[in-house]
Amino acid sequence: MACCYYSNETLGENSMENRDKQRILIIEDEKNLARFIELELKHEGYETEICYNGRAGLEAAMNQDWDVILLDLMLPELNGIEVCRRLRPIKDTPIIIMTARDSVIDRVSGLDHGADDYIVKPFAIEELLARVRALLRRIDIEEEQRKVKQTTVTYRDLTIEKENRVVRRGDEHIELTKREYELLLILMENINVVLSRDVLLNKVWGYNSAVETRAADDTVRRLRKKLSDGKTVIDTVWGFGFRLKERETNEHHQGS
Ligand code: CA
Repeated sequence: MACCYYSNETLGENSMENRDKQRILIIEDEKNLARFIELELKHEGYETEICYNGRAGLEAAMNQDWDVILLDLMLPELNGIEVCRRLRPIKDTPIIIMTARDSVIDRVSGLDHGADDYIVKPFAIEELLARVRALLRRIDIEEEQRKVKQTTVTYRDLTIEKENRVVRRGDEHIELTKREYELLLILMENINVVLSRDVLLNKVWGYNSAVETRAADDTVRRLRKKLSDGKTVIDTVWGFGFRLKERETNEHHQGS
């Protein structure tokens, strides 16, 4: 992916100190292995906790927030697949399965039950650390993409929250129909650009709709009424279309 510039490696050690430590839960009943992994993770700057059985692990996974969970499959009290299966409906914490059983069925079963990655024992600790970093990067990127989708569009004191399809002026919520909303969104995303009636009809009403050009004019007229505050002006460009612009002082507004 072209946008992966921000790995921990490229940011260097200082940036790890500047943000909260990332927390990793280790659910592993082989004590020596668990402690070894913990030592290495702490050395890399992560905060860790170990649970030595599935039930305690599930509880810790449910009740606290973790950036990654390292999960053994063969565990006393509750096996790893079961931990995964019970956790997933409640939390989507990234999980890396650590399995000694190199059977395709175990791995597929783990991934089917919501694990994000797996590593086969015995593994080199560097490989585990690389998997953890890769998973954290992936989560970062996904979060970033979610944020982009949520972006708001603003124009003067008007705000559109695209994800919720909410239009506000300051704190005041403005009720718009679906068409009015879509029309306003296009205008606000193209400030000072003249949009033809045809473009608006295609984008807001769709290509196959049989609406007349009047529909755009009518919707614009209703929008003007709902937004009228003397500042927000949907300008008519005669014989062509509309644009959203700011009203000049004392300029007389020509509506259609
Ligand atoms: Ca085990």
